[in-house]
Amino acid sequence: MNHYDIQGAHDALVDRLVSCVDLVQQHLDRIDEVDDTVHAVLSRLDESALALAAKVDAKIAAGEKIGLLEGIPFTAKDMFLITGTRTTAASQILKDFVAPYTSTAIAKLEAAGSICIAKVNQDEYGHGSSTEHSSFGPTHNPRHLNSVPGGSSGGSAAAVVAGIGIFSVATDTGGSVRQPAAYTGVVGLKPTYGLVSRYGVISMVSSFDTVGVLANTVIDARSVMAVMAGQDAHDATTIDAPAIRTDAEVPKKLGIVKEYMHGLDPKVAAEYERAYETLRQAGWVVEEVSLPKLNQALPAYYILTPSEISSNLERYDGVRYGSASTESHDLTSSYMMTRGEFFGEEAQSRILAGTYALSAGYYDAYYKKAMQVRTLVIKDFAEAFGEYDVLVGPTAPSPAFEIGAHSSNPVEMYLIDIMTVSANLAGIPAISIPIAGPEHLPLGLQFLAPQQHESELLACAAAAEATLDTKLAEVSL
Ligand code: GLN
Repeated sequence: MNHYDIQGAHDALVDRLVSCVDLVQQHLDRIDEVDDTVHAVLSRLDESALALAAKVDAKIAAGEKIGLLEGIPFTAKDMFLITGTRTTAASQILKDFVAPYTSTAIAKLEAAGSICIAKVNQDEYGHGSSTEHSSFGPTHNPRHLNSVPGGSSGGSAAAVVAGIGIFSVATDTGGSVRQPAAYTGVVGLKPTYGLVSRYGVISMVSSFDTVGVLANTVIDARSVMAVMAGQDAHDATTIDAPAIRTDAEVPKKLGIVKEYMHGLDPKVAAEYERAYETLRQAGWVVEEVSLPKLNQALPAYYILTPSEISSNLERYDGVRYGSASTESHDLTSSYMMTRGEFFGEEAQSRILAGTYALSAGYYDAYYKKAMQVRTLVIKDFAEAFGEYDVLVGPTAPSPAFEIGAHSSNPVEMYLIDIMTVSANLAGIPAISIPIAGPEHLPLGLQFLAPQQHESELLACAAAAEATLDTKLAEVSL
């Protein structure tokens, strides 16, 4: 099968080298070919996808123009509501939940003519860094089947790499778009907080959640983000940001985040140093800058996120949504048994930690302190951006690890997020692009920019992508 990027697929449709029905069918066929092994897909949307594809073909046959994203098959993390489709957040509580309306982000893509072919796997409610916390079982990394694809959007990353859809829409609360992109060797873009509406997206941490995209190239990520971005009357936190431009000047003054280079395996560090050197040779200024408060971002993140999670997951009480325990005998036991039976261990432990951090007597010591750290992180970024256009560093401390390597130790799993969470604390945009790591496992090179500087961030990442010219081993599935 042809592994198209968006422009390639668009050209093939316009030139009638492939019909839209065939294009969509090829991507659906990939599910049959690889998904017993990869396990990226939770629900297939064959019928609606093929019906939409037929309409695009009719338009092309009538000689009408089609837009760049029209007829392009994609997948969506199972956090996104799409009318009439099962939407589970990979949780047993929502295993039979059918969405009554469509999220704004997906509605905008649908209006542009893109075709969702499947809903894909993730850590339950977005809690995790490996997709091992899905109540439907883990997803495997298509480049290295014994390894995790990263998380929480592991199904999205695996789908893009395996050729199930040309891009995938996902959420990033603490790194869930960028880190799986890094582990699987694709591009992952997390926008400024509020750039894309969260309406119709299952909430994890309302003040951190962003809608991002995983794609094969920076240009593809930009095309999709340009469509999804924009203010939405249904989400009061959306912002009136400048439109994403394709002609932004490439920012050439990069600061390497010193704190992100600490403690890396020397073989991994060497690959990053090589990338920085290649950029310098191509005319970039690339020098180290210290943001000392970033060392406190992870502990602050793991106080603030469970706090908001404990509140956001209250609604899954067995009364309003989804599964309910059949063993209960009164309202309180129904709450307790439903939540005890159907929430996974990680969700339960975050609810407990968050309830504790918010309770009277502990609020000042934990939640308030963590919010103060959040402000300090924002200040550190502001200072660094006074000096550098864009910051750069690794996306994660290591390449993809083997399934099971960290699943019994939550703290080890949390430490994987050390280089991604600060962008969410500060609400700034960030992107991960692939570079080749040791033993052919991909690594992620992360770029971070000030809020609403998506155009410059993307121009920088696209230029770096072209300069670094990374070649990863072919996926043999
Ligand atoms: N790994 C992080 C966590 O478990 C990030 C999750 C996310 O971005 N959804 O909280």
